[in-house]
Amino acid sequence: MLEVKDLHVSVEGKEILKGLNLTINPGEVHAIMGPNGAGKSTLSAVIAGNEGYEVTSGTITFEGQDVLEMEIEERAQAGLLLGFQYPVEIPGVKNVYLLKAALNAQREARGEGEIPAPEFMKLVREKLAFMKMDNSFLQRAVNEGFSGGEKKRNEILQMLVLQPKLAMLDEIDSGLDIDAMKVVAEGVNSLRSAERAILMVTHYQRLLDYIEPDYVHVLVDGRIVKSGDKDLALELESRGYEWVTEESAA
Ligand code: ADP
Ligand code: MG
Ligand code: MG
Repeated sequence: MLEVKDLHVSVEGKEILKGLNLTINPGEVHAIMGPNGAGKSTLSAVIAGNEGYEVTSGTITFEGQDVLEMEIEERAQAGLLLGFQYPVEIPGVKNVYLLKAALNAQREARGEGEIPAPEFMKLVREKLAFMKMDNSFLQRAVNEGFSGGEKKRNEILQMLVLQPKLAMLDEIDSGLDIDAMKVVAEGVNSLRSAERAILMVTHYQRLLDYIEPDYVHVLVDGRIVKSGDKDLALELESRGYEWVTEESAA
């Protein structure tokens, strides 16, 4: 589904990703872990097509298409979605409108018409209830005055409505108390399917007790230096990252 090959990315002239390789197949859940500044957010931002990143070499393909040739909107419509694609507060733009516009853009790309209003409201209310979010969220401006936990729930809500093929989630556990984390984890788990893949960045092994990944990758200094299963996350939790770096340098 997604193939990243020897990816090198610079930000403001500084090389951040230094030859990164990653393959994701449908149905898989991948967790990326690693020290601060390793390039985790850069990776998902580059895949999603956010501005400000210069790909100096390497390739990214998604279902055989050259992702680097696609505009950010085309990527989203192809089913590549980074949570918090709209992380900023958008004063005056209600959540409900953003969700509807994003969903309709996707439908349009598939040659479908706009979703009828009653059908849309039914869908959104169902997903809101699942995320234990109040209906009033819809009428609030995007992320305006949202707590960290509310932003994360909103991010998952967006995923549940848009049903991307590859859902990318950056630091989904940061700023969440244990109850919110469980709700977010349930939301992510409900996205799991044979056709969909999930790429999530997390700092804490704790989250992986709730969302069990198929693969755990350690990203250090712009490269994936070790991959394993969920046991690797447990090992990282107890031993930190240094040993992985030393092992990969040896
Ligand atoms: P991580 O998510 O693993 O903590 P990031 O991908 O956010 O790491 O950042 C990797 C490195 O790139 C850091 O050194 C960070 O300071 C730098 N960086 C990321 N984005 C920018 C930017 N927009 N401008 C300048 N430096 C950046
Ligand atoms: Mg980050
Ligand atoms: Mg780096």
